Amino acid sequence: MTTLIHWFRNDLRLADNPALSHAARQAERVLPVYVHSPADDALTPWGFPRRGAHRRRFLRAALDALHARLVEEGSGLLEIHGRPSDCLPALAVQVGAAGISCEAIAAPEEEAELAALRGGDIPVESVWQSSLLDPAALPFAASRLPDVFTAFRQAVERAGQTPPPPLPVPRLPGWPAGITLPPKTTEPTAAFEVDARSSFPYTQPAFHGGEAAALAHLRAYFGSDRPHRYKATRNGLTGVGFSSKFSPWLASGALSARTAYAHLKAFEAERGASDGSYWLWFELLWRDYFRFLHLKYGRQLYRAAGLGKQPVPGHDPAAFARWCRGETGEPLVDAAMRELAATGFMSNRLRQLVASYLINDLGGDWRAGAAWFEAQLIDYDVYSNQGNWLYIAGRGTDPRGGRRFDPIKQAREHDPDGSFRKLWSQP
Ligand SMILES: Cc1cc2nc3c(=O)[nH]c(=O)nc-3n(C[C@H](O)[C@H](O)[C@H](O)COP(=O)(O)OP(=O)(O)OC[C@H]3O[C@@H](n4cnc5c(N)ncnc54)[C@H](O)[C@@H]3O)c2cc1C
Repeated sequence: MTTLIHWFRNDLRLADNPALSHAARQAERVLPVYVHSPADDALTPWGFPRRGAHRRRFLRAALDALHARLVEEGSGLLEIHGRPSDCLPALAVQVGAAGISCEAIAAPEEEAELAALRGGDIPVESVWQSSLLDPAALPFAASRLPDVFTAFRQAVERAGQTPPPPLPVPRLPGWPAGITLPPKTTEPTAAFEVDARSSFPYTQPAFHGGEAAALAHLRAYFGSDRPHRYKATRNGLTGVGFSSKFSPWLASGALSARTAYAHLKAFEAERGASDGSYWLWFELLWRDYFRFLHLKYGRQLYRAAGLGKQPVPGHDPAAFARWCRGETGEPLVDAAMRELAATGFMSNRLRQLVASYLINDLGGDWRAGAAWFEAQLIDYDVYSNQGNWLYIAGRGTDPRGGRRFDPIKQAREHDPDGSFRKLWSQP
């Protein structure tokens, strides 16, 4: 009887999970596993833990939801602790597994993790599955990805390329004999309530981590006319409704981009296409673009110079700490940084502003800023975070060589009555 382990990484869902579906087809027994690696909680070179409290709590909820879904399907989620290359082979021996399936993640640390696992005796099958479009079906090889987003988008649109339809939830083979589901060890989150000012109040059931909340949110979003207004409202700063708020579920993999796209197309079929609905596709293409950029450039994106040649940026620990705490003296920047620390979320407009402020106004190191975002953001996504930071730093593929956002102008245009600054005038 063949047993396989499915190692959940950033794909915490059952629907449209090609790696899981593949394992379910191949084996008579599938053991779903999540690995808590010590690397996830290590200290960054900038002196703070890699994963802050908001991210940990959101992940906790997503794992609990995944376990609950798996139990409904007659299975469950085994959580183990250790380096994947140590603990997965040991588990495979224990349950007699013939192999491991997982999603492929094209970022250096995640690739190194997989390479170390592959160095052992157990076969590992990894499947690329986090993008909307299939990289193999792009109108160019990934190595020839256009270096300008607009050229990429136009080539995709000219070719009429659309994403493959999402896969259904697979029929999951049973849980292997000889291994008992351990009791859940949840963090004491019950007493915790995210700040009431949050634009993504993840302690409310509608914003919990996990697939069920993600799909309910998708249905509610596309059951409203908000997609028609998306282009006009997406630069908003406050509240739950100004943008789609798909990102925390997309980043943890509770939602696949293809499922989001299928709902978008169903919305357009029923209610008509508009600038707003088109712009959601446009933004999801940005997400893909940063993924495919990793397929083209890999490690180069992780150098201090990125794709450019500029010298290593400076790093002033005291100025950086003031930026993190929202104490720079620039009111809109400070308000945004307080929001991030208090809630784990920040609008796209303010992410651009605070990144630009650290890089251009404080002369700081973009990598420290990216690391702070990684620790704080509940929607932290290695590709989108690295890609956006490089872009603003002028070390990625911005044809204009980087962006400076003027805090005064941004405040005038996006917070004209000062309500956001007032809301976050205190931590
Ligand atoms: C410095 C910086 C760092 C960022 N770090 C992350 C990150 O770690 N994780 C993350 O998911 N997004 C990141 N973004 C992109 C963007 O800010 C968020 O995706 C967006 O704010 C999430 O809110 P939403 O789902 O309501 O987005 P919407 O505006 O509703 O957009 C819909 C979806 O399109 C995608 N998208 C939108 N804008 C971008 C973009 N600029 N780049 C890539 N994808 C995009 C996201 O998947 C998003 O969920 C970053 C942006 C900047 C400027």
